[in-house]
Amino acid sequence: MDLGGTNFRVCSVTLKGDTTFTIAQSKVAIPRSLMVSDSKSLFSFLAKQIAIFVEEHHSDHFAEDLGHHLHLGFTFSFPVDQKAVNKGFLIRWTKGFDIPDAIGKDVCALLQAEIDLLGLPVTVAALVNDTVGTLMARSYTSPGKTGTLLGAIFGTGTNGAYVERLDRLTKMTKPGADVGEYDKSTGEMVVNTEWGSFDNAMKVLPDTPYDRALDVNSVNPGVQMFEKRVSGMFLGEILRNAVLVLKDNANMFSTATIKADSPLYTAWSLDTSVLSYIESDDTPNYLVTRETIQREMGVSGRISAEEAEAVKILVHAIGKRSARLSAVPIAAIIIATGKLGPKPDSADVEGLNLKDLSLIEQGIAAIKTAVMGQPTAAPIVDAPPPATTGASSTTVEEGDTIDVGVDGSVVEFYPGFEEHVRSALRDVPEFGAAGEKRVRMGIAKDGSGVGAALIALVAYKMANGLV
Ligand code: ADP
Ligand code: MG
Repeated sequence: MDLGGTNFRVCSVTLKGDTTFTIAQSKVAIPRSLMVSDSKSLFSFLAKQIAIFVEEHHSDHFAEDLGHHLHLGFTFSFPVDQKAVNKGFLIRWTKGFDIPDAIGKDVCALLQAEIDLLGLPVTVAALVNDTVGTLMARSYTSPGKTGTLLGAIFGTGTNGAYVERLDRLTKMTKPGADVGEYDKSTGEMVVNTEWGSFDNAMKVLPDTPYDRALDVNSVNPGVQMFEKRVSGMFLGEILRNAVLVLKDNANMFSTATIKADSPLYTAWSLDTSVLSYIESDDTPNYLVTRETIQREMGVSGRISAEEAEAVKILVHAIGKRSARLSAVPIAAIIIATGKLGPKPDSADVEGLNLKDLSLIEQGIAAIKTAVMGQPTAAPIVDAPPPATTGASSTTVEEGDTIDVGVDGSVVEFYPGFEEHVRSALRDVPEFGAAGEKRVRMGIAKDGSGVGAALIALVAYKMANGLV
């Protein structure tokens, strides 16, 4: 299951062991009221959705004993202090959630308690961050033999996880560090960066009055400052703040009527998909933009082409800024891991490679890396056509490819997002055009669900001595 921020998905995944999978899933929007409630309300809602799904897809499991429970990977995409594969304590809420009594609690235990109350044949086997799930999913599905370095999310929020050398993680070896149990045999670990909260001190991030208004009205002022300039939950609100200023100070929409219940007057009510519609508008006189303003901003009557153009300019600036900022942590991680060196073996880490689960020996060695983080030389298998987002054709040799898995509605649907990321990468001196070409970005479609399944599989095998 996948609690991302906007939607809640329950899915079951069949991994075919050859980079492909099938998936059955259900999706519901998380009711706003539950985002600011108590943990019991939220987790009992989640358990009920699991019950509905299990009844529909796995009713045969109801008769089974504990040993045959369904093993659940729980993708929970908020900052947690993870102590074991199925144990993690919530550090803070982000993305508009505010449920104070859950902070400091083990979110797997909260979920398991509600699952047990419903008598479901489900065991929470693994706690997964969506970035790690995306990294896993991409390292299973990506074409060719290259391992995947980074999994990144641009959805409701933004964050990334990458493969790092253990000896560089000073946090793990600090005297007195309380980091729980972990395997050191591979010398590597997957790091969840929580980059959404980079530069909370605002030393380098761009800042506007519209960003500041958003932050003040958020449930978590002063934190997640990078995320608040990049991800889906926030871009509509930045636009709303800017349009309101134009209305008040520059007579925007003065010949039109703004309805009293217009979304312009309600915080957080403009979805980022609105920006996508407007960004994609190439009609004469901004017809689509005008229609979108009427429909989504509750503005009726005469909207001039000039006003529509002004809104479109704002949208473009907000979207382009988001995408160019998104390139920053991607570039930083690629540089820091030595990936831009001349040969792939000059890099500090190779990346994760989970392509073939069917050959038991290598498959298990490979999935073990899902938790431990050691690259393996998995055999090359026939892969489906490259799942790239298609912005840039590449003649880069397989060995020079730097593979990045991405997921989230903003990177998937915002027009031109990847091309803006790529343009910003080219502007980073260490990259230039040659370095940018080496980056292969692929949408890890359903990455959170597939990654959770991969990790639940590993956790199950480890718990049962099969690895
Ligand atoms: P989650 O973060 O819950 O996993 P998504 O990846 O679907 O879910 O991201 C949801 C976010 O994406 C929301 O903030 C929403 O505003 C935004 N979004 C949805 N559709 C689009 C679109 N067509 N273009 C840009 N952003 C979108
Ligand atoms: Mg998601």
